[in-house]
Amino acid sequence: MKKSSLLVMPMTLTNMNPNNQKVDLKKWAKDFGNSLIGNPNFRRNEPDVAIIPIDIIVRDLVQIPEDHWWKYAFMREPMNSKFTDTERRRLMEQAIGCGREYADQCVEKYGTNDPNYIAKELGLNVDYPEQPQNGHRVLFAEYRDPNIIHIYADGVRRGEKLLASDCVKNELHDIDLNRILLSHEIFHWLEKENGKTIWTMNFEISLWKIGKIENRTHIACLSEIAAMAFAKRLMKLEMSPYVLDAFMDYGYSPKAGTALYMEMMIDDNRVPSKASCEKDMK
Ligand SMILES: [Zn+2]
Repeated sequence: MKKSSLLVMPMTLTNMNPNNQKVDLKKWAKDFGNSLIGNPNFRRNEPDVAIIPIDIIVRDLVQIPEDHWWKYAFMREPMNSKFTDTERRRLMEQAIGCGREYADQCVEKYGTNDPNYIAKELGLNVDYPEQPQNGHRVLFAEYRDPNIIHIYADGVRRGEKLLASDCVKNELHDIDLNRILLSHEIFHWLEKENGKTIWTMNFEISLWKIGKIENRTHIACLSEIAAMAFAKRLMKLEMSPYVLDAFMDYGYSPKAGTALYMEMMIDDNRVPSKASCEKDMK
């Protein structure tokens, strides 16, 4: 039951790899997912999976409770190998607590959960360019120092197109992608502003220590977990915003979205649904 061994379950390989080609799933996973962090590159090594309809994907993923996403969240963390599963679980709980606390503080301070209003009060400049300037990257939103948040309209539009289906709407209800993305990025600004006190910026592990010299490092995925928890709390979402990693990616590449879905399901010891038909998928 070590970190990603479940990723190579025979069932998964058959489903993901109909031509029996060898795919290094661990390597692939590094290129996809965490779209809110800005890593995916769909043109590169697009996984060869049988596409699963998006309504099945969201139906399954919304079932995963907020605190069950630790394995997925840590998978792309450079320091992942430093932790045991018990530690990952505990750290996820702490990061969720941190995100919730800041969301509650915002609501209390500004008297609203409207991220647009909150962003304005915080002095953030929010804009909606079509795509990131580096067009090779697929990215849905980003925070830039000192006070800029970009929300990329092309990705959001693709997500909204998927949301137009009644089956998808039944699962995700009336979520507002712009507001969820904005909430997530607001948290990153709050982290910067509260750098000395906020838990995500102050939890560190020691890499080495020689005498009085110690090299300590911050754990990036905890910031992401907290940003997701912040967005969930502020927007009163039932699902974890991690669902959007697969959902938004699907808008660009149904194969990449499907493969991420499978990874998410397997990471939570769930059996992914099969594509209803191996061929003729839309
Ligand atoms: Zn983020």
